[in-house]
Amino acid sequence: MKQSQLFTRTIKELPKDETSFNAQALIRAGFVDKSAAGVYSFLPLGWKVINKIKNIVIEEMVGIDGQEINMPSLAPRENWQATGRWDTLDVLFKTSGADEKEYALNPTHEEVVTPLAKKFINSYRELPMAVFQIQNKFRNEKRAKSGLLRGREFLMKDLYSFHANQEDLDSYYEKAIVAYNNIFRRVGLEEKTYLTYASGGSFSKYSHEFQTLTDAGEDIIYVCDDCKMAVNKEIIADQNTCPKCGRKDLREEKAVEAGNIFKLGTKYSDPFDLKYQDKDGEKKAVIMGCYGLGISRLMGTIVEICHDEKGITWPENVAPFKIHLLSLNENEAAENIYKDLIKQGIEVLYDDRELQAGEKFVDADLIGCPYRVIVSKKTLADGNVELKHRSSDESQLIKISELSEKLK
Ligand SMILES: [Zn+2]
Repeated sequence: MKQSQLFTRTIKELPKDETSFNAQALIRAGFVDKSAAGVYSFLPLGWKVINKIKNIVIEEMVGIDGQEINMPSLAPRENWQATGRWDTLDVLFKTSGADEKEYALNPTHEEVVTPLAKKFINSYRELPMAVFQIQNKFRNEKRAKSGLLRGREFLMKDLYSFHANQEDLDSYYEKAIVAYNNIFRRVGLEEKTYLTYASGGSFSKYSHEFQTLTDAGEDIIYVCDDCKMAVNKEIIADQNTCPKCGRKDLREEKAVEAGNIFKLGTKYSDPFDLKYQDKDGEKKAVIMGCYGLGISRLMGTIVEICHDEKGITWPENVAPFKIHLLSLNENEAAENIYKDLIKQGIEVLYDDRELQAGEKFVDADLIGCPYRVIVSKKTLADGNVELKHRSSDESQLIKISELSEKLK
């Protein structure tokens, strides 16, 4: 991508009411734009990051036999009334149609996926089954001050699993934990993310959250350094110890909930009468699990953690481009290098604009691609370019002929 043709540019004027760091950094670098509190557009650079995160999540969900679907954002009031949540879920976005019926803008999809599954699941032969989607969700938040960490409209992955019995759900749940850990490793948040005990409900003693440590987080968790796990605030009030090893001196940390997984049991299959016929012909309630992960929230969390005073420092797997190629008045040579890197399948943002070197460096630091390659009169004199990692102060001179091999 040539930067001269990019839809966006870096900007200096931030919206006055934007107080969160992640949104400020992303708006400044041209990744997102704010329409209203908790409502953002994703621009070309930002949408590239979102798609990288999505692809990782899709691979891991397919890896645990999830089948991708897409459910509607609108659900009729009756669905939400069937579970009692029309009146009890305070963040439910409600709207009315021209048909004078009321609808919810879904914050989660149990009320849609359960009646949907009822159309296809009849027999034990059809179980287990898992479907997931990555889709915009809505929450009617009173305050939305944390940028992408708490939106009124946001992108989320939600997977729902259907089982014949508790043992099958239990074993699937463990596989989901592994898949989630893979996701956090691949997006560069493994070290900061803790599997966290949360309250379970009637079907299981605990549910689990995946909490990522950051001062921007709105949650408080208690980390057990022996188990590399944590407990959330509700749980600590009960027992004040690690549920796994019994350790008492847990470390209090601020965190953001990146994902949560929950054994639903028959909480939603009962109201929608989702049943299957077992081997003996007996009708039994389908056992369900749900597994959420905030995609746009994950992007905001990465920015909260991966930055320095100059801008964002994207982990390589989610960076909009691997290379930021800067031409300092040497567009002819830089163009050839750009074409060669593209040919090698390397993702390059090529700054071909007529700007001062200093302005290009500032923009490159704001945008935060992992590697910066500089082409200038000085480097070209010996057939070189300058290569620098975004997070390092040191650069090295590389022969142009060896560059693509080095970057692959
Ligand atoms: Zn422990």
